[in-house]
Amino acid sequence: MFALADCNNFFASCERVFRPELQGKPVIVLSNNDGCAVARSNEAKALGIRMGDPFFKIRDIVEKNDVAVFSGNMALYGDMSQRVRWVLEDFAPAIEVYSIDEAFLDLRGMKDIDFDAYAKKISAECWRLTSIPVSVGIAPSKTLAKIASKLCKQYPKLRGGCYMHRPQDIEKVLRRFPIEDVWGIGRRTAAKLHSMGVRTAWDYTQLPEYSVRKIFALPGLRTWRELRGEPCIEFEDGFEAKQSICVSRSFSREVVEVGELVEQIANFASTMAEKLRRQKSLVSEMAVFAYTNRFKDNEPQTYGNSLVHFPQPVSDQRTIVSGAVAAAQELFRQGYGYKKAGVVATHLIPESDLVHSLFEDTSVAEREQRLTSALDAINGTFGRGAVKLAVQGSGRIKSSSERQSPHYTTLWSDIPKVSVK
Ligand SMILES: [Mg+2]
Repeated sequence: MFALADCNNFFASCERVFRPELQGKPVIVLSNNDGCAVARSNEAKALGIRMGDPFFKIRDIVEKNDVAVFSGNMALYGDMSQRVRWVLEDFAPAIEVYSIDEAFLDLRGMKDIDFDAYAKKISAECWRLTSIPVSVGIAPSKTLAKIASKLCKQYPKLRGGCYMHRPQDIEKVLRRFPIEDVWGIGRRTAAKLHSMGVRTAWDYTQLPEYSVRKIFALPGLRTWRELRGEPCIEFEDGFEAKQSICVSRSFSREVVEVGELVEQIANFASTMAEKLRRQKSLVSEMAVFAYTNRFKDNEPQTYGNSLVHFPQPVSDQRTIVSGAVAAAQELFRQGYGYKKAGVVATHLIPESDLVHSLFEDTSVAEREQRLTSALDAINGTFGRGAVKLAVQGSGRIKSSSERQSPHYTTLWSDIPKVSVK
């Protein structure tokens, strides 16, 4: 059996932990620069606020209904996520952290357990120890466990835990479960399935195996099998290096000067290079982009994109930052107000797979590597940004996050105060 533990409305729930008076009230959390709603409590969902709604479009609803609005506070959410993880680790021999608010538990080999009670107990312990509501679904495959956890959210009487295993129960649930909501079914696959008359997860399981294989290849077949209760998606409890790394931000104001755009992109590239080194990867291709504000449709728009190839894969600071700087200078166009920019490392290889070419002068690469190691060591001791490249200028444009809650759990100065009378 596998369990999926999914924190309900995670960011909004984190905000409520230290503001208990907001229980039962509508709460939303906004993305970078207070752009869009990225988390909503159930009460906010009931008001019709949708995921990704731009803040300026929902301002009326917010004011009329006294919705509590927060800027994102990733330090708080990351820390609360870690706390939930610690609770979950006591319940299974292995856990796979799937995202900041979801983790799979490997329950294979656990026998003579009342899994329904177990699911409810996991949820209750998470609530008792962290005050985060968590939905726990247990089922024979990871895909079914995901569906079971969604049921907990629909039916409060399940008390946060749902064990779904009897074939007749699974059939009943799948018959009502939209195919586009199944884990692993993308938007395009869903559209194709709709055109074939497949509406629910159950319809999908009734397709013959050979046509699933023919039309949707291996990933589609895996989902088909998983829905039929046959586990075939690997459990990954180890550390897995990311296949691509993106660092991007929207700016709190428009950037109109080439120098300033270059400075910002140099900072993104620097962070990206640090991330590469942390996971011991090298990059051979990266993309640099900068966009204007798509919400201002009366102003000229541009979406600049530029690719950088490194003949020899790298992770050192200077090569990556100077590649990004050159690309930024190339894509910049005068007369536009840039609102968002970023860098993405798209082609990664593990450090250990590097093969030097015969004609390469490795002494240059070695010198850059030594310089980078020195930078990392100094910044590791004195804090990020203690030493940086001149092109990074005075650093990033501060994002606006006026409605951010305190860093209750990660900064001594923000620790909650309690007065006892
Ligand atoms: Mg969630």
